[in-house]
Amino acid sequence: MRIPRYISSLDQVHQVIQTDTIVVGAGIAGLYTALQLSQKAEVILVTKKSLIDSNTRWAQGGIAAVTSEMDSPELHKQDTLMAGAGLCDPAAVDILAHEGPDGVKNLIYYGVHFDEEDGQIALTREGAHSRHRVLHAQGDATGAEIVRGLSELVRKTKNITILEDHFVTDLLTKDEQCHGITVLKPNQKKMLIQAKSVILSTGGTGQLYRYTTNPDIATGDGIALAYRAGANIQDMEFIQFHPTVLFYPGAPRFLISEAVRGEGAILRNTNGEPFMHKYHSLGDLAPRDVVSRAIVSELQQSGNQYVYLDFTHESEEKIRHRFPTIYKTCLEYGLNLVMDWIPVAPAAHYTMGGVKTNTHGETSINGLYACGEVACTGFMGRTV
Ligand SMILES: Cc1cc2nc3c(=O)[nH]c(=O)nc-3n(C[C@H](O)[C@H](O)[C@H](O)COP(=O)(O)OP(=O)(O)OC[C@H]3O[C@@H](n4cnc5c(N)ncnc54)[C@H](O)[C@@H]3O)c2cc1C
Repeated sequence: MRIPRYISSLDQVHQVIQTDTIVVGAGIAGLYTALQLSQKAEVILVTKKSLIDSNTRWAQGGIAAVTSEMDSPELHKQDTLMAGAGLCDPAAVDILAHEGPDGVKNLIYYGVHFDEEDGQIALTREGAHSRHRVLHAQGDATGAEIVRGLSELVRKTKNITILEDHFVTDLLTKDEQCHGITVLKPNQKKMLIQAKSVILSTGGTGQLYRYTTNPDIATGDGIALAYRAGANIQDMEFIQFHPTVLFYPGAPRFLISEAVRGEGAILRNTNGEPFMHKYHSLGDLAPRDVVSRAIVSELQQSGNQYVYLDFTHESEEKIRHRFPTIYKTCLEYGLNLVMDWIPVAPAAHYTMGGVKTNTHGETSINGLYACGEVACTGFMGRTV
C-alpha cells in the first residue's frame, strides 16, 4: 500500500500562525537548539507531551566529552572510531570530539549542574573509552538534570514560544522546500505553523521494539514525517541494544547504566562465571554492541533469558552515592545492588540511523534540519 504524502488532511484548519523557526521536540536536542536559535530568531518549540517527557529525561550515565587535561579530542576520536568498527564517518567524529567540550560549557552556562569532586567536574569511564571522560549529574540522573536546567531557561526565554501537548502530524513542503508543519492541538483541532525553517529533534524509535529502555514518546515520528516529505533516511538497521537492562518478573525494562560497569561491576553468566574476557580484550568495558552480542551468545549456550551484573564487591556507601536512582529502583523489586547479582539482558536503546543530515544538520530538503537522535549524521556508524 502506498504511504500517503499527508496523513492529516489540510482541510478544516482551525488556525494558521507564522514564525521564523520551528523546533519539533523538547529533549536535549530541541531545548538546546531552541536556546541557541533564540539569540537570533523567533522560535516556536512544539512538543507532543510536556517539556520533561523525552528520552533525555531518562539518561543516566552521562555525557562523554573531553574536559580533563589527562585527555584529548584526538584520543576521544580514536576511541569512537575504534568502537564504530570502521563504520563511522571520521569527519563527523572529529566534530563531536573537538566541539563536545564547548557543548558542555554551554550546558553549564545554561544552568545544568554536573557532579563535582574536589572542586573539579567528576568524570567516570564507560565502555570503549580509554579515559575517564563521562560527566554526570546527581549520580545517575544526568538527563533529568539536563532537562531541568534547559527547560527552566527555555521557559524564561522571550523569543521562545512553547507549545506542549501539541502533536506534529506532517511537514509542509513545496518544490523540495519545507515551509512549516501541521499540528494537532490538545483540543484535537488542526493548526498550521509556517516558518522559514523546521528543525526536527523528535528522538528515536525504541517503542518499535518489544523490549526497550525508551519511554512511550520514542515512536520514530520525526523519521516518518521526514520520510513522507521525501527526505533521505539512512541506516535504519543500525539500532543499538544496551547490554544491561533489568530483566525481572513484573519490573519494567529499566536501564542499568554502563557507568556501573565503568565503576567496576562485572557480568557473570548463570553459572556465576565472568565471561566478557572471552569476547574482547577490554572485558566488561568492551563496546556496547560487543557486550550485547556476548550476552546473547551466553544466553544461547545456557538457554536462560538473562545474565547477572555483579557489583557486590563495592561498598554500600559508594553504590548509594553514585547510583541512587538505580539502587532505589532495583530495591523496589527486591533486588539490592549491595548484596544481589542483578538479572540483566539486552534491549533496544538508541536509534543510530534516521533522517540523513550533513554535519550542519541539513537534510535533503531545503529548510528542513534534524539533530539529536532523529538524525543520522554518520558519527555513530554508517553503511555508505
Ligand atoms: C534510559 C535511557 C538512558 C540513557 N542514558 C544515556 C546516557 O547516559 N548518555 C547518553 O549520551 N545517552 C543516553 N541515552 C540516550 C539519550 O538519552 C538520547 O539519545 C537523547 O536524550 C535523545 O535526545 P533527543 O533530544 O534527540 O530526543 P528525546 O530526548 O527523545 O526528545 C524527543 C522529543 O520529541 C518529542 N516528539 C516526538 N515526536 C513528536 C511529534 N510527533 N510531535 C511533537 N513532539 C514530538 C518528544 O515528546 C520529545 O520531547 C539514554 C536513553 C535512555 C532511554
